[in-house]
Parts: sequence; structure tokens; C-alpha cells
Amino acid sequence: MSTSQVRSAFDVAVVGSGIVGLGAALAAHRRGLRVVVIERGSEPSGASVRNFGHLCFTPQAGLAREFALTSRELWLGLAVDAGVWLRESGTLVAARRDDELAVLESLAETRGDEVELLSAAEAAERMPLAAGTAVGGAFLPRDLQANPRQAVAAIAAHLEREGVEFRRRTAVGAVRPGRVETSRGPIDAGRVIVAVNHDIDLLYPDVAERHGIVRCALDMLRVTAELRMPLAAPLLTGWSLVRYGAFSATPAAAALRERLHAERPDLAALDLNQMYTRLPDGTLIVGDTHARGATVAPFQAESAFEAMLEETRSLFGIDALRVVERWQGVYASGPADFLIEEVEPGVHLAAATTGIGMTTGLGLAEHVVAGFTSPAPTITLQKGAS
Ligand SMILES: Cc1cc2nc3c(=O)[nH]c(=O)nc-3n(C[C@H](O)[C@H](O)[C@H](O)COP(=O)(O)OP(=O)(O)OC[C@H]3O[C@@H](n4cnc5c(N)ncnc54)[C@H](O)[C@@H]3O)c2cc1C
Repeated sequence: MSTSQVRSAFDVAVVGSGIVGLGAALAAHRRGLRVVVIERGSEPSGASVRNFGHLCFTPQAGLAREFALTSRELWLGLAVDAGVWLRESGTLVAARRDDELAVLESLAETRGDEVELLSAAEAAERMPLAAGTAVGGAFLPRDLQANPRQAVAAIAAHLEREGVEFRRRTAVGAVRPGRVETSRGPIDAGRVIVAVNHDIDLLYPDVAERHGIVRCALDMLRVTAELRMPLAAPLLTGWSLVRYGAFSATPAAAALRERLHAERPDLAALDLNQMYTRLPDGTLIVGDTHARGATVAPFQAESAFEAMLEETRSLFGIDALRVVERWQGVYASGPADFLIEEVEPGVHLAAATTGIGMTTGLGLAEHVVAGFTSPAPTITLQKGAS
């Protein structure tokens, strides 16, 4: 077969089949474009399967909120169209001290019914916390939960059924306007969307350096635990309140950060975001720590896992926990929330550069594709999430 016979022409080539790449393929396909997705792995194994599956729309601010709101509609649509498992769970936030409650109260003032404040009694009733742990809390009813181990596979299968082509076990080595050079030969496409997460530093090292993008590695666990009641929704703690944009922008957040760091320098050194989600099989995802660098060590210190398990026992008032799995996740991390750049004519880079890509990635991808095409057809939604 000659080289010209193996080349195909597409309107859009997407590099990477994590949530951002799949979002780009979806957005382009919905506009009637011919799309190919090029993925170096045989199946998804990047950040999009290693995360909590927490679709935390309410805690986002600025551009992240804009992308989050678009994503929410798209996720709900994918639950119907692609059979993505989605729980209309909302988010629970446990406030263990008054300064944590102050952050929640402050956000509630500006967000109306997106933030339902909980009294200490209500928090105890809705969360499986150790007795007397919470001084209050909040419920964020618009948030959702996906199962990351099912979601990307379901979306990819849906896109394939719809006619989007996938080239797996095919690594991209270089991208030029109109052409993607792969380990299986070149692929021609009018537009290219590069959605390779932290590996942007391999394909575009200068761009990564210019945007200050490094890698962020996270330690994660899955455990079985006998809680007082099942966890009905993703659960955030005070450590989350100094992290996500909408919380950390409240006037009360600075004092909370100072107190947490003064009281627990050991956990602050791990850059802990103590949070939990429950998978459909009842196991809990427990996380997470953060370590940044141009290269992140693959060696995961057991002391970090011990600290997370200890905090988990204390929060839920339990002794027994069985660790089922441990893993490391990595995402691109930079001073801004997103990298969006047309590096050459028709070559678009898209990445979430903080740990909110499941929440915002579909909206980010929709934004990038909308930038060079006509509006997509209106999404008609049935209520499909369970
Ligand atoms: C542990 C952890 C927990 C998180 N928790 C949450 C959460 O609860 N909620 C939330 O909103 N966000 C969360 N995030 C962030 C979120 O998971 C990421 O922002 C998001 O998944 C990034 O999606 P992506 O498509 O850019 O990257 P990925 O899912 O990493 O996909 C990139 C793909 O590109 C492919 N690729 C790379 N280079 C090439 C190449 N040269 N050629 C071909 N293919 C290539 C890779 O194989 C990979 O499949 C978490 C992240 C981690 C790591």
C-alpha cells in the first residue's frame, strides 16, 4: 500500500483521548465535521480515569465556572446519549471549625440556592462523620458525580458508534498545520486539537515553559470502610475550601489557610486536599496530595498514604479501613486554570492546568471548537442522570 493510500483527510484531528480530547471530538462531531482521535495508548489510562469523578461545578470561579456550566449540560446529555454513569449527587462539605463555615457562608451570600448551608445537626444527619466533628457544612445541589473508570470509555464508544474514527496505539511525534505525524504515518486534517494534558511539555516544550506549566503528581487510594451511613455525595473538607476558585476567593479563605497551615504543617507540606467520593461498588476514593515539578518522582512515599488514612479514620470515627488500590495521577499545572492557544494556524492546544479537568474539560473543548466553527446544534436534554 502506498503512503498516499494510508493517509486520510479529516476536518479535525484530536490528539489525546482523555476527557478534553473526547470533548473536542464530541464538539466537532456535533457540528457535522469528520473527526479522527489519535491516542498513543490502547485504552485510556491518563488523568481522566485516575480522578475522583467529582464534577464540582459550584466551587468554580471565572472562566472555570463558564466552562463548568457548559460541561454540566454536556455531561447530562452524555448520560442519556452515551450511557455515562452519572449521579445527581450534589457535593457535601463538612465544616469542622467556624472559619470553614465562614467560607461557606460567604459563598452562599453570592450564589443563592447553589449553596445550601447545613447546621451541625443537619451535617451530622447527612454525612457519616465522627460524632461531634462538624460545626456545620453545606450541600451544593448542582454538582454531579461520574465514575471516571466508566465515563471516558463510554464516551469513546459512543463517538465510535457515531462515526468518529479512533487510531489507538498511535503516538503523535509532531504537529504541523494540516498534518499530524504519527508512529503509524501522517494524518491530514484541516484543524488539529492537541489535548495531551501534561505531555504538552513533550510536544510543545517552549509553550509549556512560556506558560509556566509543570507536572503535578497526586497520591490516591481506594478503600473499603464501614461508615455510619453510605456517603451520598462527594465529600469535601476544610482543605478543599482553600483550593477551589470560588471558595478561595472569599474573604474568609485567607485566614482559614493560615490556620490550617499553622496547625498542620505536615498536611500542608503534602498540599493535601482531603476529599472522598464513593464509587458504584461502594468503595471510597480517598485523596489527595500534590507534588509539582518538571519531572515528578514515580516513587510514592508511604508516609503520605498513612497521613491520608489517619485523617480518614479521624474524620469518620472508624478504625478499620482496607486499602484496595493505590495509584498516582498526574495533571498539567500552571499559574492559570487553562492553556488555550492556537500555536500555528489551525493547531489548537487545550488543557486544564489545574485539577478541575473533569469538571471543566468538556466546556473547554466546546469553547475551542466553537472558536473556529459555527454554533453547535442546541442540546436537547432529557433527565437521564441516576
Ligand atoms: C488524581 C487526580 C484526581 C483528580 N480529580 C478530579 C476531580 O475529581 N474532578 C475534576 O474535575 N478533575 C479532577 N482531576 C483533574 C482531571 O482528571 C484532569 O484535569 C483531566 O482528566 C485532564 O484530561 P485530559 O484529557 O487533558 O488528560 P488525560 O486524561 O491525561 O488524557 C491525555 C491523553 O493524551 C494521550 N497522549 C499524550 N501524549 C500523546 C501523544 N504524543 N500521542 C498520542 N496520545 C497522547 C495520553 O495517552 C492520554 O490518554 C484529577 C486529576 C488527577 C490526576
